[in-house]
Amino acid sequence: MLDAEPAPRQLVAYECARKHRVEVPFSVEAEVPDTWECPRCSNEALRVGHVQPQRPDEKPVRTHWDMLLERRSVDELQELLDERLDLLRKGDIGPGFLHAYEKPAARTRKGRATTG
Ligand SMILES: [Zn+2]
Repeated sequence: MLDAEPAPRQLVAYECARKHRVEVPFSVEAEVPDTWECPRCSNEALRVGHVQPQRPDEKPVRTHWDMLLERRSVDELQELLDERLDLLRKGDIGPGFLHAYEKPAARTRKGRATTG
């Protein structure tokens, strides 16, 4: 086996929220993580002087409403809403519908039975 020369090292500093600072030696070839576990309080320590990459091209946050509109037009949604409201008023769905059901007999739980 060849005794390879040790790769050069770099000290990377991390600091946790409680300002504990830890310096971790990494090989310069190693991929240095952005976070490290603080050896003192086990919190996540962030790499000092390392700016989290900004992504200016990132899309604006899509809301549920945006996603909904990608699938349905407002007219369609209105139609669906009217339909559901109609059902709700007739008691076919919603609380009235649920209460119309008889409660099913208590189901026996499947799975492990704990015996003392
Ligand atoms: Zn700490």
